[in-house]
Formats: sequence, structure tokens, C-alpha cells
Amino acid sequence: MGQRVGIDLGTTNSSVSIFSLQSRTLGNAEGKDFTPSIVARVDDNAGQRFVVGEHAKNLQKLHPAETVSSVKRLMGRFFDDDEIQKFLVENRFSYKIIGDKESEDAIKILLKNESYSPEEISAEILKKLVRDASRHLNEPIEEAVVTVPAYFNDLQKFATRAACELAGLKLKRLLAEPTAAAITFDFDEDETARGLTLMVFDLGGGTFDISILTTANGHYMELAKGGDNWLGGDDIDQLLIQHVFLAVEKENPGVNVSEQIGQLAEAQRLRFFVEMKEKVELAKITLSTELRANIDCFGILKKKDGQFIDIDIDISREEFDTLIQPLVEKTRKITHALLDDIHFSPELIDYVLMVGGSSLIPAFQSLLIEIFGEGKVKVHPRPLLAVSEGAAKMAHRLDAKDTDDEQTKLHFMHSVAHDYYIQLANAKRLLLVKKNSPLPLQVKEELSFVSESQFLGRIRIFNLVDNVFEPVGEVWYHRYSLLEYLDNFGLISGQRKVRFEFCFQISEDNILSVELRDTERSEKKQHFVLSRSGIELQLLQKLENYLALLASQSIDLDDANDLIVLSETIVRTILQISNPLTGVVNHEKKRLAQKQLSTFQQLQLRDLHLVSQYQFHKIARETLSVVLNDEQKAKLDELLHQYRVAMIALEDADFLEKQGVILSDYLKSIFGDLAYTVTRAANCALLVEKESKAEAARIRKLISECLQAYARGDMQDLENRKKQLYLYEVMLDGPIGKMTKFDRDVERTVAT
Ligand code: ADP
Ligand code: MG
Repeated sequence: MGQRVGIDLGTTNSSVSIFSLQSRTLGNAEGKDFTPSIVARVDDNAGQRFVVGEHAKNLQKLHPAETVSSVKRLMGRFFDDDEIQKFLVENRFSYKIIGDKESEDAIKILLKNESYSPEEISAEILKKLVRDASRHLNEPIEEAVVTVPAYFNDLQKFATRAACELAGLKLKRLLAEPTAAAITFDFDEDETARGLTLMVFDLGGGTFDISILTTANGHYMELAKGGDNWLGGDDIDQLLIQHVFLAVEKENPGVNVSEQIGQLAEAQRLRFFVEMKEKVELAKITLSTELRANIDCFGILKKKDGQFIDIDIDISREEFDTLIQPLVEKTRKITHALLDDIHFSPELIDYVLMVGGSSLIPAFQSLLIEIFGEGKVKVHPRPLLAVSEGAAKMAHRLDAKDTDDEQTKLHFMHSVAHDYYIQLANAKRLLLVKKNSPLPLQVKEELSFVSESQFLGRIRIFNLVDNVFEPVGEVWYHRYSLLEYLDNFGLISGQRKVRFEFCFQISEDNILSVELRDTERSEKKQHFVLSRSGIELQLLQKLENYLALLASQSIDLDDANDLIVLSETIVRTILQISNPLTGVVNHEKKRLAQKQLSTFQQLQLRDLHLVSQYQFHKIARETLSVVLNDEQKAKLDELLHQYRVAMIALEDADFLEKQGVILSDYLKSIFGDLAYTVTRAANCALLVEKESKAEAARIRKLISECLQAYARGDMQDLENRKKQLYLYEVMLDGPIGKMTKFDRDVERTVAT
């Protein structure tokens, strides 16, 4: 049997640990405890491959554009995200990233003109970690607990699951990093017996995570989570770089550093930034223990006259502290906000546990001592390894069901990291789940459409992260299923406001699911696991845009409803694109969804009324049945069947258009314009039936007489009766309801 490990897949550094009696980190092939989360693509005689870790870090200086660092920042993000755009402007990626149009603007990393997803790059890191650990242990790695920032949103968690899947790693659980760190601290037995409230302060390279937990006798309960996904050592390095540039300009009057950098060739510019980053990071680390540090960089930057600009700057701890003061204040604010969230005062915290590389910076330690008091702040003895050690302990615990050793047993109560909202009519948002609610959970809301003629409800779910509503998924509720609609012409009658129960669940493992149940038709139930890789959200938006276009055209309400019903096929395909548990994208389904979307758009552009065409010919088939021979019936049935299948598949607009023509041509070839006249009248009978049964019967009698005349070959009689039927046709062409408002909103049945 293989081993079970804990993995800290960090922004800057990653590590693997194992637990037996106590946690220990498994060194990598280079003999180091942690592996820089850096991936380089190398093309040489041996072919194309990825190099990960220390070696990749060295390659970064030579080939910055082919080396990926901090890929974790890109996980589950879109190209047009503000933070991503800000990073691009600030030149903070040494490699090229693009918004992949095919994946609806998901981020792709370009290495040697080939594109990779952030998940694929992360998978390379995981593969290296697992390979080295398994070599170290001389045993295969069977499963892992992998950590993610407490503050990760659902899309980011799914991207992480996808990376594990791509790396061929069986994921036992995703664990919040601060929680992992917390379980590595040892307290004396008296204290844990009494119960402790802990705050974990995890400040790494790319993210700042804080979490408040209580613990007693091996039980851990997450009370609150907070942080900032875009705050860490990297930002400090960035401040230092800016500081250096200013100092250089001061020393060299007339020099504008940004301008000089702009003059460098692309490769040189990237190398310059990589080198600067390495130099300032070293200075920063020095300043954690020393009072002065030096930053130098020679022989790259030139003045206008071609002379090299020597960068050689001294910085004191005091200057450094002033420089990073804004970031220290930001962490202070976030810390207080988290305490406020659960109405805690600092006195209620027994210990503050500091982990993550940037925890070693004295300014942050002083801040926490100032807020909580000297005796309460504990810096982890191995701040960069605490998270993977904790994950290993958790992995062991999940394995330890049958060991009786109570000492090693741990029990967890997880909680949600963010508020969950759904969007209601008039852009109102309804709070579904408050952050820090314990998991698993289930909430039910009774919702309804906003109007009686509404055919579709779109329920969008959001997280509130840093005061921004981030979409995490959505479900569409169709008034009628497509099959139901195709088979029942009369369905649209009996207008009512659709009411349904919306049941939202989050499992202990943070898997989101939704169940929708029609309140008046209990058999109508739909269940979705919401595990979106973001692509789904973008595709659903595209579909929504096409539908919104309908509203802007002056379209017949029934035609609009036909299209809305057809959209069910696309929604279903979209929801199948990513695996609900791993987030891995099924590319075949994705292509299918895109194809269906384009078919849908074609139908709209070409004004093809598929559903009504189909229904029309179905009515024709029934009405004309008495005058059709077996061969004609079989032929019509076959054509209708093909049409129906193609309509449900929604893959080929050309075929559908052609099929409609073939059907009507076929009928015309047998009956001439009689087929049309009779069917229109039959359709009319269906419609008037609701108001007057007698009138409907009159029309049907007329149709029947007409067809008898046809069967007898009595042309005179036929013409007379046809003329009478025309009248009903004219009636049908009367004013038809144009769409005025196109609702997809839902509202709460109980007023808010
Ligand atoms: P992540 O969780 O993002 O992978 P880590 O916890 O591994 O990050 O911390 C990496 C960050 O910590 C980097 O920004 C690094 O420069 C910084 N760091 C590491 N050691 C020190 C130190 N002694 N003093 C200050 N910063 C440090
Ligand atoms: Mg970390």
C-alpha cells in the first residue's frame, strides 16, 4: 500500500510532509525541505520537458519568458480580472499570459508559443513533489491532503482539484492552510483540555490568510476566516523595487528608470526584473535579522549616453519598516475586521500563531504583539513548513480510523469562508449562507418567477469576497422541459407564476449542490452539483446574451419561448463540461456546448422557428392521417423523428433548416396547398378550444369535410370548403403578442 502525505502547494514554495508519531517534511531531490513553486519549460536535445523547483529558479534568470512563478495567483481566475490586469501593467509576470478565447477568457500561459492552463502548470509542481517524496520514502504516494488558502473562492478550489487530477494524484481532502498550520502547534494538555481560541496568521509570498479556530482535546472548529488573496512577500519585494528605482533616480539626476527599462529589449527587460526581484528578496530576508542590507545590480541598465547605471543601494531596517507600513496597516485592518466579524475582542484570543515566510519580518510580529500582547504571539519554528506538516497530520488522521490511539486523533469542524448570495429580481441580493457557518449545511428558499408568462428563471450564486460579488455558479430553471414542451402543444395555456423550492447545500468537503423542485408539480425535480471551472459561467453568459438579444428584437412571445425551451439542451451540456468533483474540463463537452451555442445563434439569425415548424408538421401528420397511405405515414414519421432528434441535439443549423424545407416540400408534393390550409385550421382549433369548445368543433368538422372531399376527388366541393378554412387562417394572422419584457429573474415568495 502507498503512503498518505500532506502537500502545501504554495504560491512561492511547496513542500510535502508525512506523519508518523510526528510530522516531518520529506526533502526533495535537491535535498531541500521545500521546493520553489517555479516551473520552466526546457527544449533541448532530449526533447521538451518541464523543470520544477530550484533548477527552474536558476533558469528563470536565463529564460524568464519560459519560466512560470506564482502560478497559484492565476488559478481559477479570468484574464480580465482587475488584479490580473494590474499585475500585467506592473510587469509582474516574467512570462506571457493571454485570455484564451476558446475557453471564454480563462487564463492561458504561453511558453514557446504553446499554451498551458494554470492547472497544468500546477500539476507539474505536484508531479515533482510526489515523485521526490515517493523516491524519498521508497514507496508510491497513494493519496494526499492538499492545502489551499482559507480565502480561496470556489473556482480557485476547483482549479486546485483539477491540478491534482492532472498530476494523477488522488486527493483525499482540500484543507485550509491556516487550519493545517494550527494543528502543528503543541500546547500543554491542561490548556487544550480547557479549550483554546487560536488565531492563525499566515503571511506567505502571495497570499495573506487568517483564521480563528477553537481547539479542545484534538477537536478543531473553524470560527472565522479572512485575508487577502493578493497580499504577501511579493508585494513587499515590489515596494522595495520601487524604492530602489527612486533611490537610483536621486543618485543619478536626469535619469528616469522606467524610461530606461522601456529601452531594454524584451528579454533583457524580463531578466532585469527577475534579477531585481531576487536581489530585493535577499535584502528583505537579511532585514529580518539584520539592521541594514544592500541591493545591487550592475551592467544591465544604461543611461541615454550608453553608460551603465550602477545600482547599489543601502537600506536600513527603519527605512524598510516605513516602506512596508501601508502593508502592515492593511494586515492590521484585515485582522480587526475578522475579529469584528464574530464580535471578538483581541482578549478572547489565547494564542496568535504566525506561519508563512513573511511572518519572520519583525514589523508584522510587532504589530501582532501590539494588538494581542507579548505572551500570546508564537512564531512557528518552521514557518515555511507548518502548513504541509499540518496537512500530513490531517492525512494521517483520515487514515487513523481504526487505530485506537486517541492521541493522534483529530476532529474537524470546517466552516464556509465567504457569504453566499443569490441574485433576485431588481438586482436585489439575498443572503443564503453567512460566512463562518459550520459545514455541512443546507438552506431552502421558496422562489418564484416574476411574471406569469415567464419561461425561464436564472439563479445566480455569488460569494462576497473583499466586498466584491464573485460568481460561483448558477442554475437555470426552465418552466417546461424540452421534451415535455415538444410533445404537448397545449402546455402554454394556463398561465401561472412558476413557484419552486431552491435547496442549496454545501458538503463538508465544500462541494456545492442545488436541488430545484416545482412547488405545484412535485415530480418536476432537478439536481445539480455546482462545480464550475469558470468556463461554464462564461458560456452561460453567452447564452444569456443571445437570449437578451431576443428581447431587443420585436419578436413574437411564442417564438421567444420556443427558443428559450431549446436553450435547455445547451444549459445541460454546459453543466457537464467540468467534472463536479475534480473540476477537470471535458473538452468534448466544451466543444459540443460551443457548437450548440453557435447553432442557437444561427436559428435566431436565420429566423428559423424550429419548434413551431416541428409542431406544425406534427399537427399536419395527425390531421391528414385519414388521407395518408401507409407509405406516406411512415415517410412523414421518419422525417419528423429525424427533425426532433436533430432539434434536441441542436448541433446542426443547416440540417435543421433543410429538414424543415424537406418536410413542407413533401407535404406539398402530395397535397399542394391543402396541407397548409388544413393544418393552419387545425392549429387554430387548438387555440380557440380554450375559449370555445363549440367553435373548435366547428373548425374540426370543416376540416374533416374538406378532407373527405379531397378523398372523393370532388374538386368543386374541396375548393368551397377550403375557402371557408382560409377565414380561420386569416384569424390566426391577427395581432400577435410581441414581447415587451423578457424576464429571467426570480424572486422570493415571502417578501423580503
Ligand atoms: P507561500 O505560502 O506563498 O508559498 P511562503 O510561506 O513559502 O509563501 O513564504 C515565502 C515568502 O516569504 C517569500 O515572499 C519570501 O521572500 C518570504 N520570506 C522567506 N523567509 C523570509 C524571512 N526570513 N524574512 C522575510 N521574508 C521571508
Ligand atoms: Mg503558504
